[in-house]
Amino acid sequence: MGNGQLDAMKPAVYLIDVTNRDGVQTSRILLPKLSKTMLNTYLDEMGIYQSEVGFPTLRHEVNYINANLQLAKIGAIKRLHLEGWCRAIPEDIELTFKNCPDIKHLNVSVSTSDVMLRGKFQGRKTWKDILHSLVGSVKLAKQLGAETLGVNAEDASRTDLDRLIEFIHAGRESGADRFRYCDTLGADDPITIYDRIKTLALATNFPIEMHCHNDLGMGEAVSVTGAQAAIESGADAYINTTINGYGERAGNCDLVSTILALKFSHGLKDRIPLDDHVDLQRAWKVAKYASYAFNLPIPINQPGVGSNAFAHESGIHADGALKDRRNYELYDPEDVGRGEPELLETGRIITTGEYGGIKGFRHVYDSLGIHFTDDNQARKVLELVQYANLHTQKPLTDDELRLTATYPDIVRQVLTVAL
Ligand SMILES: [Zn+2]
Repeated sequence: MGNGQLDAMKPAVYLIDVTNRDGVQTSRILLPKLSKTMLNTYLDEMGIYQSEVGFPTLRHEVNYINANLQLAKIGAIKRLHLEGWCRAIPEDIELTFKNCPDIKHLNVSVSTSDVMLRGKFQGRKTWKDILHSLVGSVKLAKQLGAETLGVNAEDASRTDLDRLIEFIHAGRESGADRFRYCDTLGADDPITIYDRIKTLALATNFPIEMHCHNDLGMGEAVSVTGAQAAIESGADAYINTTINGYGERAGNCDLVSTILALKFSHGLKDRIPLDDHVDLQRAWKVAKYASYAFNLPIPINQPGVGSNAFAHESGIHADGALKDRRNYELYDPEDVGRGEPELLETGRIITTGEYGGIKGFRHVYDSLGIHFTDDNQARKVLELVQYANLHTQKPLTDDELRLTATYPDIVRQVLTVAL
């Protein structure tokens, strides 16, 4: 087009990371609230559009969510939308705004497929009941202050398209801003999802979120082809991701792989524009931190961030890579923020944490360039550091220590749960 204004209006793909909701609800993997908070700050630095922060109706999430909303209010989280997830029933909407009055972004979810309607509601809810509850929920959320709201069709990939179109119209007419297509079982493939999303986008011209699971090993493939169908039909597209693909069963669509696919794959790189705030060079930092915080290793062959992603040994490959890296590498380590050596202290080390005292605490913070002149303030932050470490049960990272010293009152709220 060549015209800047027209270019700015072209549809683009925006990323909504759901690690702090779908990732943490997963069986047998856990994330402390302080780590969820760190992930929100890293996602913000990475230029991700939105983070699904968790469940505002769940009591142990409430302080953490309100504290993160406060971080956004004071500008510590700059652009990232902090969005809550709840069921599409008016009771959940009421409780959400009672618990978190400042929340501005929501996604509300309900099952739409016949198999789930029969299997979950056992005949207690008809399709008309579902739509009625959806409309009531969206209207109430907008009345109570939601600025953006997505309507999620759980099990959309096993739902008739006519029914999904009806769902989208009902959502839009009651004030929703986006539709989330959930491939809840990971059953779609790139060709079927392309066709289905194209039909929905052409019939409704409504922004579509792709929420895809990896049960067939195609989580990213179906997400990007679904987004492509939306964009090619003139609609904005959003892709739900999780860091390192952590999520239910075989996981969700992986954040870094999705960005790599949009930036480097033959079919997408020049045709499907990605939100230009996204900074792929933050990938290494966010993936490494999530791995540390979840206590889960990054697979050796993980795209971009696995330890073998830029390793070459076999004769022909090593020779080719040494002559010209482009022989065997699609992108560079620096593209994903790698390349700097990581130094590991092998001599004397002073740490601070759960059982630390004031001298060690001051030493650690001095080395971070943070100096406490007020003794009372130092003792207050030391106590918070003790509790933060009690909470995470692993050595606090430099960024966790910085966050604790910079926003002590907010971190205190993150660490506090009430029964
Ligand atoms: Zn999911």
